[in-house]
Amino acid sequence: MGTSSPITRTQLFIANEWRSSRDGQTFETVDPSTEEVIAAVARGGADDVDDAVDAAREAFVGPWRRLTPEDRSRLLYRVARTLESRLDEFAELETLDTGKPLQHSRGEIRGCVRYFDYYAGAADKIHGETIPLGPDYPNYTVREPLGVTAHIVPWNMPLSMVCRSLAPALAAGNTAVIKPAEQTPLTALKFAEIFLELDFPPGVYNVVTGFGEEAGRALSEHPGINSITFTGSVETGRVVIRAAAEHVKPVVLELGGKSPQVIFADCDLELAASEVVKGIYSNAGQYCDAGSRLLVEDSIKEPFLGKVIERARAIKLGAGMDEPDMGPLVSDEHFERVLGYIETGRKEGARMLTGGRAEGFGKGYFVAPTVFDEVESGIRIAREEIFGPVLSVLRFADDAEASSIANHSDYGLAAGIFTRNIDRALRERGPGRLRHDQRVLLGRHGLSVRRLQAEWFRTRKRVGGAR
Ligand code: NAD
Repeated sequence: MGTSSPITRTQLFIANEWRSSRDGQTFETVDPSTEEVIAAVARGGADDVDDAVDAAREAFVGPWRRLTPEDRSRLLYRVARTLESRLDEFAELETLDTGKPLQHSRGEIRGCVRYFDYYAGAADKIHGETIPLGPDYPNYTVREPLGVTAHIVPWNMPLSMVCRSLAPALAAGNTAVIKPAEQTPLTALKFAEIFLELDFPPGVYNVVTGFGEEAGRALSEHPGINSITFTGSVETGRVVIRAAAEHVKPVVLELGGKSPQVIFADCDLELAASEVVKGIYSNAGQYCDAGSRLLVEDSIKEPFLGKVIERARAIKLGAGMDEPDMGPLVSDEHFERVLGYIETGRKEGARMLTGGRAEGFGKGYFVAPTVFDEVESGIRIAREEIFGPVLSVLRFADDAEASSIANHSDYGLAAGIFTRNIDRALRERGPGRLRHDQRVLLGRHGLSVRRLQAEWFRTRKRVGGAR
């Protein structure tokens, strides 16, 4: 860890300027490992969102629009290199704000670099099509940027969630207004230093920190934006999609999950137990695709659960900066919410085998890796996204029952299948099939197929006719 504080920016970033919010208000952000306030950050509101959208519009119709795809590509590569050169600084700041282990933050910042490298390479390869309507009808499409894009992001992977949608948006020639989560506003602000340093035109990258009901709502309802990418809860996603519908704007929603991990008796139990534990307890369970439902074949349930519990109990908790295996939850509010679910699980008849509120921490939002057995698929801890280190164990007798339980969910984000039988894992039809909208994770590291975000341009159809 460096000696100086990694917190360098707390003001809004609009048109390449650092600004207080129009009404001068701020809010506090807290280190979840210590519960100490680490910064007072500008609390942006509707007026500030207006300013940011105006700045983004000016950049879009002006200097940014005039750059060639190759120019944009070069600039985005430079963002990647600069961020890479400051990786530790950004990782420390992410850990301070989220509580996650430093090595996880480093991995996420490396992922941000990768987003920029990948989409820098894509910037000059966005092609249209020609459509063969016959010799008298020249017909082709041109891909154009949408304009001002809004990015509303959650707190669980703060800068990573910014970069995942920002990099493709900029590559395609759009400009951006970012609304970070109020729990973790710091890295999106610091990221602006890079855009300044690299002389990006003012207004290409703007950040309005603040609360969801204020800055977030104002941004999603703003008539001057041309698309919204929202990553967060289903509940807020519904609000955002309504706002987008009102103005008939394209919207990308990346929402929550209650992903099953299905363990068949023929799999490598040691390997599967390690993957299951990683799948639910990484980032203290605060991943959208956390494997929070464990489905185990009857015949191996007891020995398999033994392996999972042994590994769960071995997880070392601590402040993110101290490189533990698992850090605290992100905030006081979320801590109470997760403990509330643990209480609900007990009340609804599930049996807690390990976990609950972590012992030995005077401060910080620490919950121990928790395992509930004898979970019925209808109860709340089996159905609702807890977004914490809580694993619900359900049993099944055969393939048909496994897929029926796995698919008994309103969510469909991800799935893990552990078996040596590849036909079973990839089955497309019949009672043993996992729903199509779920990702199948196979193999040692869980190969996940991430959708590439390519929704950053409109396709304009050019039709010419000889008659
Ligand atoms: P959240 O929905 O509470 O907040 C997300 C963002 O929306 C924040 O920036 C918040 O300020 C803003 N917001 C809140 N109310 C708003 C409103 N009325 N209008 C506009 N914006 C508003 O979610 P969270 O608690 O920050 O994040 C956790 C959720 O995110 C989980 O459900 C998780 O599964 C999901 N998530 C999904 C993915 C994915 O890729 N599918 C990735 C990460 C997180």
